[in-house]
Amino acid sequence: MPSISPNKPYRIGRSRTGLGLFATKPIKKGARIIRYFGPLLDSKKKEEDEIENKYLFELTNRWTVDGSIRENVARYINHSCRPNSESDVKPRKRKIYIRAIKNIEPGEEISYDYGTDYFKAYLKPIGCKCDSCEKKRTKKRAEARAERLRLKEKAERKAKRKAEKLAQEKAKDQEKAKEKAKKKNGKANGKYLNGSGRPKPAGKKVVAAKRKSSAAPLYA
Ligand SMILES: [Zn+2]
Repeated sequence: MPSISPNKPYRIGRSRTGLGLFATKPIKKGARIIRYFGPLLDSKKKEEDEIENKYLFELTNRWTVDGSIRENVARYINHSCRPNSESDVKPRKRKIYIRAIKNIEPGEEISYDYGTDYFKAYLKPIGCKCDSCEKKRTKKRAEARAERLRLKEKAERKAKRKAEKLAQEKAKDQEKAKEKAKKKNGKANGKYLNGSGRPKPAGKKVVAAKRKSSAAPLYA
């Protein structure tokens, strides 16, 4: 890791994606923070045009800065979709500066937008890990969770209503069955007219009385 003079307003530190550059002092909006530098590559020279790495910074159609060298501390600055800095390119001077576009507090990570080409080539395939995209992802996950919970509760309410309806229908059926049974009993009562549902055992007494009366003339 390259050493940084202690009066510079930044340091290299751990970030979400590996290393990053962090403010150590307040940085005012508009201030130049650091120069992004490295060998100039001439696209007209075949061997220079063939160089490929993640730290190439195109100045013009012809000139590109190769920022992959160790001394280029600015290469530690991570991309952000909602950055606090920007690249300030001076094509004629063939220089690139990173400039604050917001007031930056000590401890804050310094970031700038790498641009659409870089984003498409390197970030989109793996998913951008910048604060803004992470927040969006977190929000989406929370929303998806809330939606799943909502659907689950809806399904549970529906199941509960269905169970209640079934229970009501069952109760109604039982009520109906009872009603039917009662009506049947009622009919039976009407037939025998004694309330017991059985014919009156009328014969016994009469028979006994008959016997008594038939036996009486024997001793008379
Ligand atoms: Zn992003």
